[in-house]
This record gives sequence, C-alpha cells and structure tokens, in this order.
Amino acid sequence: MRNSLILTASMLCIVAFVQGQTQTSAIRKANIPSANPNNAEVYAPLPNVVVPGKTFSNAPSDAIILFDGKNLDEWTSADGKSPAKWTVADGIITVNKATGDIETKKQFTSYQLHIEWRIPANIAGEGQERGNSGVFLSGKYEIQVLDNSNNDNKTYVNGMAGSIYREAIPLANPEKKPGEWNVYDIAYTAPEFNDNGSVKTPARVTLFFNGVLVQNNQEVQGFTSTDTKHVYENHGPAPLRLQAHGDKSLPISYRNIWIRE
Ligand code: MG
Repeated sequence: MRNSLILTASMLCIVAFVQGQTQTSAIRKANIPSANPNNAEVYAPLPNVVVPGKTFSNAPSDAIILFDGKNLDEWTSADGKSPAKWTVADGIITVNKATGDIETKKQFTSYQLHIEWRIPANIAGEGQERGNSGVFLSGKYEIQVLDNSNNDNKTYVNGMAGSIYREAIPLANPEKKPGEWNVYDIAYTAPEFNDNGSVKTPARVTLFFNGVLVQNNQEVQGFTSTDTKHVYENHGPAPLRLQAHGDKSLPISYRNIWIRE
C-alpha cells in the first residue's frame, strides 16, 4: 500500500514537471522574434574584437595609454605651452600644486576613461581642503577627487568624491581610505552643439567608482564653475585635464590612466 502511494505521487510529479516544461517552451517560443534576416536579425557592423586585460584595471588592446608608470610624455601644462611638471616616481604621478593643472596633448570627444587615484595616508585638512583634485572631462566638467572615505569628511554632497562637481551627488560612497588606491571607470558622452552655439545634446556621465555605479548616465548641466548655475560653452574635441587644487593638504597621486575613444 505504502509503495503504491509513493509510486503514484512520483508519477504525478513527473506529469506536472512535463506539463510545466511544455508551457515554458510555449512561452519561450512566443517571445522569439522572427528568424527572417530581413526582419529582426542584423549582421553588420560587427563590433571590434577587443582583448580584455587580465584584470579590469589593465588596459584593453585598443586603449590609448595616457600614463603607464614611466613618464608624462602624453601630458602638458594646462596652457599647452610647456611640459607637464608633476612628479613621476615609483610608477605613479603625484600632483605638483605649484605648477598647476596638467592636460593631455591629445584631444578627445566621447570616451571610456580609466584612472586610479590615491589620497596620501597621512592626509590632513577638512571639507574641500582634504586631498582635493579632479578629473575634468573635455577639460571642463569635473568629476571630483577628495577624501570622503567612510563619509568622515563633511562637505556638500554634490562636491564629494564621485560627484559631478556642484551638480550631481554620487549614488553611493565606495571610497577607500587614505593610502589605498581608488578606481574611476567613466563612460563619457561629449555634448553636441548647434551651428549657433546652443546646446544640441548635453554631456552625459556614467561613473563606476571602485566598481560601484555612482553616476548613471547623468546629464551634465554645464562647465564646472562656482556659479550657482552651470552653463555650456560651445566646444569640440578637448584634452583631459587633471586638477592641481590650491588647498594646503598633501598632494594626491594618480596611476594607470587610459582612454578608449
Ligand atoms: Mg576638485
């Protein structure tokens, strides 16, 4: 009696399973688009084959290397007239605040940018005067660099690390503590302008901060300034700029900088 009950229960389970499978396949089939190549299937253009790096920090095969640990050959002073004079040692760049911002010799439009930065372990100061630097997309739109690890350094939240400075608050704060390296991976869409100089489409920024999404296709309101309202100025391809901020705290460092246009 017991054995026949177990057998009946098992058969019911099998029947229910098969019915479930049949229903799932029917649903799947209903959602499959037509196989007609003239309809839903597209065969060109093929995406470029790219060999990924061994880690997500290593530059992929089609990246333009802007700093590989050796020299500042890809960089110049912010006026473009003299060599970049920040310090290169032990494979990293350290900001030289006395010599001002540096920018790339090459000009870019839209791109993917990877850049790593580190606040000194013995950083002092507070608010915006604690390891302040910045990554200026198109040389105009600042992604803030600052010590805000563990939310311990109080400042305006749209001026924290991971913010689009004085515009967009980061969605999270994954910053590492001073002395450790942070990573910004940025997808940047440059603005487009009409013939009369007005904005056709604004700039957009997606930012992964140590692998965490902190800006999601965020619209940029205009070039970074201390004005309440940021505005646009017509521009084309432009250098990437790094900030030598005038505060008195110790200078921060950068390494492993690359771009994919
Ligand atoms: Mg800054």
